[in-house]
Amino acid sequence: MPRVLLLLPTTTYRTGDFLAAAQRLGADVTVASEKPSTLESLNPAGLLELDFRNPKEASRRALEFARRTPIDAVVGVDDDTVMAAAAIAEALELPHNPAAATLAARHKPTMRSRLAEAGVPQPRFALYRTTDDPARVAREVSYPCVLKPTFLAASRGVIRADDPAEFVAAWERVARLLREPDVVSRGGEWAQEILVEEFVAGFEVALEGLLRHGALSTLALFDKPDPLDGPFFEETIYVTPSRLPEKTQRAIENAAAAAARALGLQHGPVHAELRVGSPGPSLVEIAARSIGGLCSRTLRFGAGLSLEEILLKDALGQSVVGEKLERRAAGVLMLPIPQAGVLEQVVGLEEARAVPGIEEVTISAHPGQRLVPLPEGSRYLGFVFSRAETPAEAEAALRQAHRRLEFRIRDELSD
Ligand code: ADP
Ligand code: CA
Repeated sequence: MPRVLLLLPTTTYRTGDFLAAAQRLGADVTVASEKPSTLESLNPAGLLELDFRNPKEASRRALEFARRTPIDAVVGVDDDTVMAAAAIAEALELPHNPAAATLAARHKPTMRSRLAEAGVPQPRFALYRTTDDPARVAREVSYPCVLKPTFLAASRGVIRADDPAEFVAAWERVARLLREPDVVSRGGEWAQEILVEEFVAGFEVALEGLLRHGALSTLALFDKPDPLDGPFFEETIYVTPSRLPEKTQRAIENAAAAAARALGLQHGPVHAELRVGSPGPSLVEIAARSIGGLCSRTLRFGAGLSLEEILLKDALGQSVVGEKLERRAAGVLMLPIPQAGVLEQVVGLEEARAVPGIEEVTISAHPGQRLVPLPEGSRYLGFVFSRAETPAEAEAALRQAHRRLEFRIRDELSD
């Protein structure tokens, strides 16, 4: 049986989906995670502790491990593992992305520079340091603009500002987030940077793609039907297939492919986000990973394959070209956190699940959990999935299910 080395950070939502995919494909799995496991000695072929933040050391350890237990594929599940996955695959002489490309996919200013050099349409941008004087910067940028950390995900710390006063307030908020210990330890030097971009208006889409020797195939194109005008950019609904005209969809694919080329990405999944306005699509970002949260559950390929199965097959060198996305429409709602506080109870689950077209309602926060809304928060409350004949029906089902859910949240300070 082939063996896959799965890089699974402790914060991922997708452990179960990737392990199930490996099992269905009949692949053996070694789970690499950044936390030492007491089970490692009991299951030496199945578990490996790796520091994903140190790709060089991780690849050294993986190579040593592979001498005893041969590895046929390396799959990183999210942004935090992109660079380590590439370094390990390189050490094991498996297809991989060049280190420079994964760096560009991980660090937004590097991505912006590569896209600019290649002439890929994107917002104008400028990089600052948290030690810069926000009042001075506020006078030199143009409005509306967006401030953001250079390495986080899920819109964490992304804030729109329409004038200098909003800019200074947003700056302070981003800078405060960048001082949080978990953020500092994830970002290192990058936690001292603030990227400022021109605000690009327009309808937003997400393209899920797969690269093979630098050629991009689109696995799915999602519309994001809720307006994303700020000041924060909470992700809510994704619906596929896209309802945009064919011609616009081709332009989006071309822009995403140009972005992948500009970064030098070669292999594996890409997740690109674009704003579609006039004159055409503009790159919000391109990442060298598949879609986050549990959103991949919207996708089914061929005879019912999951996205995780597609990714594992591809990494194992098996062809996935024949595996077409199911024709039926599907959607996911990332449940927005309505307010800060402690989650007490979720009411209406049965009613939400009973809405026609709703396939699954998964609450990923647990009672007693502290909920932090955007822009500081990073965890999802949960996910609602729908499937229907048309994208409009898939979207309507999500909205109806959402209306039936009630989140009882206790104020943190009261009690
Ligand atoms: P993250 O990596 O945290 O997801 P992004 O750069 O993708 O950060 O930004 C998150 C969201 O914020 C985007 O999906 C988009 O809706 C909005 N956004 C970010 N940058 C811009 C911009 N320059 N113009 C308009 N909207 C933006
Ligand atoms: Ca994003």
